[in-house]
Amino acid sequence: MRTNGEFTVKMRLGLMGGTFDPIHYGHLAAAEAARYEFALAKVVFIPAGQPPHKPEQTVSPAVHRVAMVRLAISSNPYFEISTMEVERPGPSYTVDTLAEFRRLCPSAALHFITGADAVAEIPAWHRFEELLGLCLLVGVTRPGHSLEDLREGLTGLGAELRQRIRVLPVPGVAVSSSEIRERVRTGKPIKYLLPEAVEEYIFRHGLYI
Ligand code: ATP
Ligand code: MG
Repeated sequence: MRTNGEFTVKMRLGLMGGTFDPIHYGHLAAAEAARYEFALAKVVFIPAGQPPHKPEQTVSPAVHRVAMVRLAISSNPYFEISTMEVERPGPSYTVDTLAEFRRLCPSAALHFITGADAVAEIPAWHRFEELLGLCLLVGVTRPGHSLEDLREGLTGLGAELRQRIRVLPVPGVAVSSSEIRERVRTGKPIKYLLPEAVEEYIFRHGLYI
């Protein structure tokens, strides 16, 4: 922890969870915008192991998703990856991941970055009150999900919990992993939707066909 006169400055750490099947420019642009706006020292991408809301057989093996994240973040010195969730047996719950980061970096202010679609569902997240006690949640805008809907989804939360959530408008990148998978399956181009190295990886390994 750095001390600056009478102020104590906590290291701000960004965390971005996701299935990343595959990672694309929507994830990367959102993470970079949050890094800049919240002066985050790093953003750690955390590919999910067995996502609780997605049946196992529909998600690509973790080894591929991790490899694609590594390729995608290699050009950004502020981006890192944690394989914590893929190594942990059982379903991946964000609250467990945050508790683990809190244990590993007790003096960091954790900023969990998530898209507008996911923020709207917070009340349904596993142990969400505990989760919001562990981090500041940065809800980034996502094309197709209005800011109003996002804010409306938070009204039921109560003032104290709402204070733990920041809404951050980011440049819209209207792409999703599902769309990329569907485009590969139907032979449509995915160029310019995700980093070239990730595109090459997908074709080299015959993913999503
Ligand atoms: P899928 O279509 O398989 O659900 P996805 O594109 O939504 O994939 P995820 O891995 O589910 O990607 O998302 C990880 C996180 O990134 C979530 O918080 C999600 O809201 C956010 N996110 C994904 N795509 C975008 C985007 N284009 N802009 C902003 N945030 C995004
Ligand atoms: Mg998604």
